[in-house]
Amino acid sequence: MARGNMPRQPSRSGRQEGVRKTARTLVKKSASRVERRTATKSLPKAAPGKKAGYNATAPERVRAIIAGLDQMYPGVTCALTHRNAWELLVATILSAQCTDVRVNMVTPVLFEKYPTIQHFAALQPEELEPDIRSTGFFRNKSKSLVGAARKIVADFGGEVPQTMDELLTIPGVARKTANVVLGTWFKKNDGVVVDTHVTRIARRLELTKNEDAPRIEQDLMQIVPRERWTDFSHEVIWHGRKLCIARKPKCVECAIEKLCHAEDKTWSTVEMHKGAM
Ligand code: SF4
Repeated sequence: MARGNMPRQPSRSGRQEGVRKTARTLVKKSASRVERRTATKSLPKAAPGKKAGYNATAPERVRAIIAGLDQMYPGVTCALTHRNAWELLVATILSAQCTDVRVNMVTPVLFEKYPTIQHFAALQPEELEPDIRSTGFFRNKSKSLVGAARKIVADFGGEVPQTMDELLTIPGVARKTANVVLGTWFKKNDGVVVDTHVTRIARRLELTKNEDAPRIEQDLMQIVPRERWTDFSHEVIWHGRKLCIARKPKCVECAIEKLCHAEDKTWSTVEMHKGAM
């Protein structure tokens, strides 16, 4: 096995020292001049840090990533507790810049106090603020929730609509929230949920080069089979919480480690790719 492909222990710093070096660099250091010339010649010509012929979005690679996620997170779904589409919509709006754990602490009290969408529609946003203060950005979130309730009561008979176009007319609802509600509650694969976890992991896995949610979603919709959009979103979000965390991801525990060439991996049995993050 080529030295660059040997498993290595992470260093104390959490980053595997020297693992970023390409096989070409490693050959240079260890071989004699003659051996070096021969070995270097035999290495395939490739872009710096990339294997020749490597296609990060090849269907077989995407299938293998999905299989690995299925294996790590079987049957996962949205972590926000809810009993109906309205409660899920509320929880998703509250989850912006806030942990699901915190939202799940706030919503039971909130829905006991205001059990129906009509209760929310009858409020002034200021009245809601104290109840959701701990989720952060509570003024904007209060306006969104009351505005959403009023819109749904006025235009959709009090029922959360089931189409992307209709959902996007609701205050506080963008594609991420709409995808959560459509995919999780209505079981409709209309798009991929792109939050901070999906953004980070899609880039680490080189499934996108984009940085903004709309383009990342389009990229993922091109390569992930439609029937997997919602499950894929949930699995990636769980992966982002459990292992593929922002700082020092737990690569040694990751089932898709061999498929991942992220520049900031903390453990690697494969060559890492510059810019794969
Ligand atoms: S190997 Fe590490 S960086 Fe890559 S997906 Fe797994 S946890 Fe994330």
